[in-house]
Amino acid sequence: MTDRISFHDFSGAAPIPAELLRRTESDLTPYLERVAPIIERVRQEGDDALRHFARQFDKVTQPDLALKVTEAEIDAAMEAMDPEILDSMRYAIANIRRFHEAQKPEESWMIEVRPGIWAGDRTIPIESVACYVPRGKGCFPSVVAMTAIPGMVAGVQRLVIITPPAPDGSVDAGTLAAARLIGVTDIYKSGGAQAVAAIAYGTQTIPACDKIVGPGSPYVVAAKRLLSDRLDPGVPAGPSESIILTDDSVDPVLAALDLIIESEHGPDSSAWLVTSSRRVAEGVMEALPLHWAAMEPGRAAFSRAVLCGAHGGVLLTDTMEAAIAFTNAYAPEHLEILTADPMADLGRIRHAGEVLLGSSTPVTLGNYVLGPNAVLPTNRAARTHSPLSVHDFTKRMSFARVAQNAYPEAARHAERLAQYEQFPGHARAVSTARPQPTPGSDHM
Ligand code: NAD
Repeated sequence: MTDRISFHDFSGAAPIPAELLRRTESDLTPYLERVAPIIERVRQEGDDALRHFARQFDKVTQPDLALKVTEAEIDAAMEAMDPEILDSMRYAIANIRRFHEAQKPEESWMIEVRPGIWAGDRTIPIESVACYVPRGKGCFPSVVAMTAIPGMVAGVQRLVIITPPAPDGSVDAGTLAAARLIGVTDIYKSGGAQAVAAIAYGTQTIPACDKIVGPGSPYVVAAKRLLSDRLDPGVPAGPSESIILTDDSVDPVLAALDLIIESEHGPDSSAWLVTSSRRVAEGVMEALPLHWAAMEPGRAAFSRAVLCGAHGGVLLTDTMEAAIAFTNAYAPEHLEILTADPMADLGRIRHAGEVLLGSSTPVTLGNYVLGPNAVLPTNRAARTHSPLSVHDFTKRMSFARVAQNAYPEAARHAERLAQYEQFPGHARAVSTARPQPTPGSDHM
């Protein structure tokens, strides 16, 4: 990597260069190879393997790490937190809860498809879900809020949090405080692929769950992929990524600030400024080093690595149409639209996890406090996936009932179709007369 900000010219007349659409997780092969033996060891050795990998990868020094967080640890975390941070957490939690309560589907619905044929859906919470809260390059009470609140709103019976321990065996106090404010009490200390394996197989301490949600490093993403036959891996949420989409109407200094947001997560993030304005492109490239100089050096180094590397930088297009075409092809996790009329441009976007509109809606607000979920599909999954939501914590079960008077017609059609598909058992079942229903049971 050089220290030069990556810059590409892009004309709408030419095909989009494939390398500009790539992310770090596009090639999981090396991670899949690395995590396979980790998963196998957790399957065989349970808690002992989790402690072993906590020592190896999380540098935990305690030989007998207790894998479940105690009530006393959560009490101590609440005590340790700055009251102002707790106040901001309550503000965020209230907004996120309000948004997700509005999103909650009806418990059931039913229609009369034809006279005497009733059918509908029932929505049922998934029984057990684990929220993975990353810890490697930061601490994320915000991820607790974004994953646990929709689970609580959906009514999941067993909602657990799993997160990597620090070297002293503790869990980030903000993560524990957020869990307390939201009402989650089952919290476990394990990270990376070993945590995903623990949730898939269960260990002596950690209960197996039906599903895991939450973002994570490529080790987490790779483990979810390998275990997807036993564990629903949820929205594919890997390393963070963003596009800041602008025309010539924006202040480049502000656009540069917003470009840095997702790039400071880690060198595996992706972040592009996509603009049709040479003035904005050049202004952002001038402003970035000044912003980096004002940042904490570690985070500035992550941001520089992304924006001077292969998965981020500045992309100048010849027209706004080309900028929007690139954005839709890229399908970013976060999209910020900084144009003269962002609401009008929203209608031209088809693929993005979330879209933040206008210069007073930077990604930072979306990540923390606005209400919509910030766990979003990455690596172009926004083409077919949606943000994490209450729907990810529920499933639907359809039901139907046929009244006696509607049965002959439905049976006749079904018998013909069954015979065409050569299923005589199906056909005989509906060519046989059905007993009368008991009085009164014919009405839904
Ligand atoms: P993480 O918890 O996902 O990964 C850390 C774990 O990885 C460690 O506990 C360790 O067990 C494992 N690990 C580390 N090195 C390993 C190795 N060499 N071999 C095997 N396992 C190893 O935390 P992270 O690394 O900070 O990654 C979090 C990711 O989530 C980032 O990519 C970030 O961009 C993303 N993120 C996304 C959102 C969102 O809302 N979309 C929010 C926060 C973070």
